[in-house]
Amino acid sequence: GNQSEVAVVTGGNRGIGLEICRQLASNGVTVVLTAREEKRGAEAVSILGSLGLPNVAFHQLDISDPSSALRLADFVKEKFGKLDILVNNAAIDGTISEVGNPETFRQEVAGMDLVEKIGRIRKHIREPYKQAEECLRTNYHGTKAVTKALLPLLHSSSNGRIVNISSRYGLLRFFSGEERKQELNDIDKLSEQRLDELSELFLRDFKDGQLAHRGWPAEGGYIAYKVSKALMNAYSRILAKEHPSLCINCVHPGFVQTDMSFQVGDLTVEEGARGALLMALTPKGGMTGGYLNRTEVVPFI
Ligand code: NDP
Repeated sequence: GNQSEVAVVTGGNRGIGLEICRQLASNGVTVVLTAREEKRGAEAVSILGSLGLPNVAFHQLDISDPSSALRLADFVKEKFGKLDILVNNAAIDGTISEVGNPETFRQEVAGMDLVEKIGRIRKHIREPYKQAEECLRTNYHGTKAVTKALLPLLHSSSNGRIVNISSRYGLLRFFSGEERKQELNDIDKLSEQRLDELSELFLRDFKDGQLAHRGWPAEGGYIAYKVSKALMNAYSRILAKEHPSLCINCVHPGFVQTDMSFQVGDLTVEEGARGALLMALTPKGGMTGGYLNRTEVVPFI
């Protein structure tokens, strides 16, 4: 018969991830909505069910827990025997917010332009070492672990696709050192092992206050987040080279109204999910190893 395509979405319980689940399910894809908290995930599934989208299953997944990723892979294998689409959406921003009541904050920034809004947010965040470490562990190492656990199942599909939800902040322009930038852009020379090493080096330099001196992103806030997304982007490009039969791409959703942006982004989740949907539903032989700024193909720099 005409078996439906199957997608796994990480961090599917809220924000852009939930919207990606909704749009995939609306397109007839069977969606495995995952969330680290069972209860939040089950609630999200029931919201989608009430919208008339019954083809959504739930499975627990904490991307920072490798054993959780293996359990998810077992579930998908048992239930579907293959995976067509993996959307790596789950991430944290590596900060502690002191924005306070988001409602009050929204009123405070209403009427400001985008640059002013982002500037105001940055005044209200702190970035301690502990959060930086957790950010790398989740966004880079976690995304990698989930991807590896599900890769064999993606190869069981006739058109396996991976969409890595990235960020403009992961572009190499935010690195202060030219050499570091070049190294991360030289995909033919880079290895996964070197990326792991860079992740360790970064955390050490972060701790030692050596960011600018060692070529890392050093100003403008979201330092660890920028590095975590840049490493994820580089990993995505390496993987695309190693797996030419899959389509593996990164997408910056834009500045979107979610909890991460304190709901002050300029895009709705529906708009923010567009690029991800484009890449998730890309036909066989489509772009791989690329990067979308919303829906536009641009370089990683
Ligand atoms: P939200 O903070 O609204 O949602 C993040 C989601 O990720 C939640 O479902 C959260 O789960 C989940 N998550 C976090 N850590 C883990 C983990 N260890 N395991 C499993 N799930 C986890 O963020 P957005 O929807 O805004 O962000 C989605 C993606 O878009 C992210 O990759 C983000 O970096 C990217 N992005 C967002 C932008 C924006 O303007 N909003 C701009 C650029 C990029 P829980 O509910 O349990 O916390």
